[in-house]
Amino acid sequence: MLEHLSKEDPAVFDAIISEIDRQENGLEMIASENFTSIAVMEATGSVMMNKYAEGLPGRRYYGGCQFVDVAENLARDRARELFGAEHANVQAHSGAQANMAAYFTLLDPGDCILGMDLSHGGHLTHGSDVNFSGTVFRAEAYGVRTDDGLIDYDALRDRAREVKPAMLIAGASAYPRVIDFEAFGEIAREVGAYLLVDMAHIAGLVATGHHPSPVPHADVVTTTTHKTLRGPRGGLILCREEHAKGIDKAVFPFMQGGPLMHVIAAKAVAFAEALEPAFSAYSGQVIANASALGDRLIEHGFELVSGGTDNHLVLVDLRTSHEDLSGKDAEEALEAAAITVNKNTVPGEARSPFVTSGLRIGTPALTTRGMTEAEMACIGDWIAEILARPGDERVRARVRASVSELCEQFPLYPELARD
Ligand SMILES: *Cc1c(COP(=O)(O)O)cnc(C)c1O
Repeated sequence: MLEHLSKEDPAVFDAIISEIDRQENGLEMIASENFTSIAVMEATGSVMMNKYAEGLPGRRYYGGCQFVDVAENLARDRARELFGAEHANVQAHSGAQANMAAYFTLLDPGDCILGMDLSHGGHLTHGSDVNFSGTVFRAEAYGVRTDDGLIDYDALRDRAREVKPAMLIAGASAYPRVIDFEAFGEIAREVGAYLLVDMAHIAGLVATGHHPSPVPHADVVTTTTHKTLRGPRGGLILCREEHAKGIDKAVFPFMQGGPLMHVIAAKAVAFAEALEPAFSAYSGQVIANASALGDRLIEHGFELVSGGTDNHLVLVDLRTSHEDLSGKDAEEALEAAAITVNKNTVPGEARSPFVTSGLRIGTPALTTRGMTEAEMACIGDWIAEILARPGDERVRARVRASVSELCEQFPLYPELARD
């Protein structure tokens, strides 16, 4: 494996080998991460990397595009089938780029957008002032109720009536419950706004019917392809036919140059995988695992934002159970035992976003390894043990040993093992 790279560039080779070991030997619980199939990685590492293909299939600015056209058409057709969408653009390099293309299709600079507050679970691209979305556009925010952590649709409607956005944005990076896209659609129509749904986190759940689809309710739906959808790192835009031309032009030539044809080929592979019954079973297990993990954490006295989960993640609010423990310190303590999660703000957060009072814990990656509810219960116990004594080296070492044993039982990429 990687025999050319090992000779030509040992430094990069070593970094890749170390990363394989890290992924193989730790518990990856970052809610936005997953492990792709070897087939997806093969397409990503293919000669399609070498091809310039500005434009769209059949209408390119360069010759020699007949085979990349095949790959892109497969990706587009499969994306439309997977989500029941009228149009798909598979060229956005990432989720952030997909959002940018949607904004510039539907809006003019200076228009008002109404998105979910970053500290309540929204995303930087939904109007943060350190992002293009909050500087090019006039950004307003809605949030969740601090008492139960749920989106308050009445408050959202009031806010939309008050600020009259040109675009309402639904979607989140840290929201553990079902999002009512139909309600978002009604509110958007009432105030004359476009509805953009960014389903980056939950696309895999939507594809398999484990979360209601935004496609019937939104003007444009954007997503990443690498989170619950388990494809290569990238973006995807779905829209109604009326916005198809606008979206395609916003991606290229307005925003991007040449598309990443190797990644587009890999998106096609991932979409075909997601159309298989096995992927639906996988998505259901992702949710069952998040619920099992949440239940076990609650048994240990942890408080979860919204009291539980409907999707692939739980959001732990450490303030009641571990008053003096920040999200940052909790993240570091767990990392020392090879359990990788991320600190996260919680509704009503008083600490800075670099410190926080919460943890976001997701199950997509471990479910790909084949773990089920029983493993989630063990992991819940280990998280509780570590966070009860976050500085204790002996506890860390004991849990780290248990983590290693568990990882050996669920090999991730046996194909990549070195002999
Ligand atoms: C992850 C995420 C994005 C950004 O995706 P990138 O590929 O990292 O640019 C956008 N929106 C939401 C809601 C996300 O969770």
